[in-house]
Amino acid sequence: MSAILETRGLTKTFGGLTAVDDVSFALQKGELLAMIGPNGAGKSTCFNMLMGQLPPTSGAVYLDGEVITGLGPRQIWRRGVGRTFQITATYASMTVVENVQMALLSHNGEIFRVLPFAHRMHRDRALALLDMVGMAAQADRHCAVLAYGDLKRMELAIALAHDPKLLLMDEPTAGMAPRERLALMELTARIVAEQGVSVLFTEHDMDVVFGHAHRIMVLNRGALIAEGNAAEIRANPLVQDVYLGG
Ligand code: ADP
Ligand code: MG
Repeated sequence: MSAILETRGLTKTFGGLTAVDDVSFALQKGELLAMIGPNGAGKSTCFNMLMGQLPPTSGAVYLDGEVITGLGPRQIWRRGVGRTFQITATYASMTVVENVQMALLSHNGEIFRVLPFAHRMHRDRALALLDMVGMAAQADRHCAVLAYGDLKRMELAIALAHDPKLLLMDEPTAGMAPRERLALMELTARIVAEQGVSVLFTEHDMDVVFGHAHRIMVLNRGALIAEGNAAEIRANPLVQDVYLGG
């Protein structure tokens, strides 16, 4: 078994509230794993601990077999954990391809040294990444005029510029129309298959989850209550109770 990411007994309390309660799971290499659960289930708190944004109250996180519990966001990112969809990370005044070039410069630690020549650096690689996310035709447009779904796809290219072995995506399709949601998940599934990246994501739309995730975990009130493939999760009475308000 080769887990890229594993948690053991991951727990976070806020005062008297246990937001994440003794969560243990493993994400295998090349897997597209979904974490679902109602609002307030603890999904974002879990992601924040995995990304180093929030220290766990107890429990441990392992990346490729090494303990990363307690490391900060920058250290975890340097170890190959990418995260998507931070709109603030993009520069509205630059073009699509320039944003990806900036990410490649940053990845190579060149950003301050070569900034005056940045527009020439890594353009071919940036275009290849944009092609991967279906954005090659928009490479020279300014980000300010992009449709929301295109901005999200560009951000996926930016995340891939860091050549992550693991991508963490907390509600990547938030704010998107149903058709755009499906398209983004299809793209993510293709990238998992073609690039060998492993992905953990959360998503509200069940069609999107059931159609694309290799495996699904269900969180409720901080605790993992079910895990399995789409058919198993659909048939699980505990999950039905949570989602049908039983
Ligand atoms: P989800 O992402 O599944 O909707 P969250 O992880 O955002 O759930 O929240 C889980 C629970 O923890 C909620 O009850 C939420 O109010 C609480 N919570 C999240 N962050 C904090 C915080 N910084 N301080 C106190 N309570 C928090
Ligand atoms: Mg959340």
